[in-house]
Amino acid sequence: MLKISPIAAFTDNYIWMLHNQQYAVVVDPGDPQVVLDTLAKQGLTLSQILITHHHQDHIGGVATLLSHTSAQVYASAYEQYAFNHIPVTHGQSFYLPEIDWAFEVMHLPGHTLGHIAYYNVGHLFCGDTLFSAGCGRLFEGTPAQMFASLRQLAQLPPDTKVYCTHEYTEKNIQFALTVEPNNQALKDYQTHVAQLRQQQQASLPSSIQQELAVNPFLRCEQNTIKQGLNMPNADALKIFTELRARRNLF
Ligand code: ZN
Ligand code: FE
Repeated sequence: MLKISPIAAFTDNYIWMLHNQQYAVVVDPGDPQVVLDTLAKQGLTLSQILITHHHQDHIGGVATLLSHTSAQVYASAYEQYAFNHIPVTHGQSFYLPEIDWAFEVMHLPGHTLGHIAYYNVGHLFCGDTLFSAGCGRLFEGTPAQMFASLRQLAQLPPDTKVYCTHEYTEKNIQFALTVEPNNQALKDYQTHVAQLRQQQQASLPSSIQQELAVNPFLRCEQNTIKQGLNMPNADALKIFTELRARRNLF
């Protein structure tokens, strides 16, 4: 049985760890020490590292982890990395025998141009593309690219768990409520997340179903959102672009 849990890093990053009591896989280890501490405490051997994109808060721990373990690294073939890794492309599947899990790679340009996600039925490790009630900033891609990437994710099965890499949920909900103040699912979610955070628990993973109900960036076709932005006749991409611009200033 595989356990999936977040290792908190820096102020708001999560390094997701999958383990079967013997071997562990981590996603986006920006900080090596919290990973090494967790491995030691739980008596786990690091077998693989999965990287979603090239930002330092996601890759900063790789070199140190490679000097302490014999882990393999998987990373996007569409980006450059200084460390040894296995480059992977959109649609490619690979199998990790140590944890007996396979992943499929999804190319999701937007936050960065080469950003990828790792998917296994029921589980999505989406890096900085999708956040709960929000999405990543457009550092490299265009709004159209990010919008298309989020659409790919919206089409995954609703019960897919979404393992985002930042705890931005409360702030994202506050912003979403400025656009959709009468969304009851969003109001309920705000209460639920506030309770989790008061108990110092992660608000994640979310799910595709939850995000479809509360995340404005996945709801650009909804009339409530168009009215909230005072753009009743705009198409979904225009709505997305406006939402992203407003969120940048929020
Ligand atoms: Zn990033
Ligand atoms: Fe990040």
